[in-house]
Amino acid sequence: MKSLLQVSGLGKTFTSRSMLKKKEFQAVRNIHFGLEPGEVLAIVGESGSGKSTIARMLTNLIPATDGDIYYNGESLKRNRRLRQTLPTFVQMIFQDPFAALNPHHTIGYIVGRPLQVQRQVKGDTRPRVLELLNKVGLTPAEDFIDKYPYQLSGGQKQRVVIAKVLGLNPKVIIADEPTSMLDVSIGVDIMNLLLDLKDKENLSLILITHNLGSARYMADRIMVMYAGQMMEYGPTEELIQHPRHPYTKLLLHSSPDPWRETEEQEKMLDRQGEPVPDAGCSFYHRCPSASGVCRTTRVEAVSTEDGRSVLCHLYGQGGDQ
Ligand code: ADP
Ligand code: MG
Repeated sequence: MKSLLQVSGLGKTFTSRSMLKKKEFQAVRNIHFGLEPGEVLAIVGESGSGKSTIARMLTNLIPATDGDIYYNGESLKRNRRLRQTLPTFVQMIFQDPFAALNPHHTIGYIVGRPLQVQRQVKGDTRPRVLELLNKVGLTPAEDFIDKYPYQLSGGQKQRVVIAKVLGLNPKVIIADEPTSMLDVSIGVDIMNLLLDLKDKENLSLILITHNLGSARYMADRIMVMYAGQMMEYGPTEELIQHPRHPYTKLLLHSSPDPWRETEEQEKMLDRQGEPVPDAGCSFYHRCPSASGVCRTTRVEAVSTEDGRSVLCHLYGQGGDQ
């Protein structure tokens, strides 16, 4: 059976030129995953690990430089029609609801305009906009439809963004750190709204977050990213209960703030002065379990039958964990 979304060997190398010199930076490498209808995947990783770059490739905002993305088995690279109709297949919710809404337009216009552009509604969009506002909990919808973004709170604005996205009937919604600019309790409401809509509207979700707790709460599967690579991937509870990659373990042990560097972790960082290994593992400098092979030898992902994969020498040939 074809997955709703299949990603194979996906990569992105950014090229910049300065003073006639070409510089290349590999932001994302060798990403593989599948997404089924109704499924939630969380992509977890610290800032700069490549999460948004993946989201931008999935929504065709930027082209991939390696690999391909398949929606219902159709290649995004090769199928021009798919690229044109992509907004009705996949939609993205960004981190900042303040920036996502044009301050000069009413909520009615903001939510209604894409319905006209994508020909979802012929004629008056107002009834459909009211319905969408109700779906995202902005009730009574009549009180919101003629307001401007500045009259709404951050949480209400993010609900407007969700209503706008929902209007196009996408199969997949990608939410890129959708709650990081909101108060914690408001953020939880937004997460619950997304889960609720996923069930009611038969959607699949990709949640991008730096918070393993949110990932666990929301997702069926988790992908842990570091320096542009998938360090670990698998079903949520198995991955959380029995983490394999030293980075995943570090994230879990340093909970509730996985990015806070404790004294103990700092001791592990004594390799930091060494040059970044070209051939070896990108996590070498921060890894408590690193050995010589991690500096010198390219690491290959190891997949197991339980649907998990890990990118670590401990699990490769001769690995014993
Ligand atoms: P995340 O969302 O996980 O914080 P990003 O995907 O935004 O990470 O960025 C991954 C890496 O790619 C970062 O090092 C970032 O600086 C780099 N990057 C992102 N966009 C560009 C670009 N347009 N040109 C060059 N480098 C970029
Ligand atoms: Mg990002």
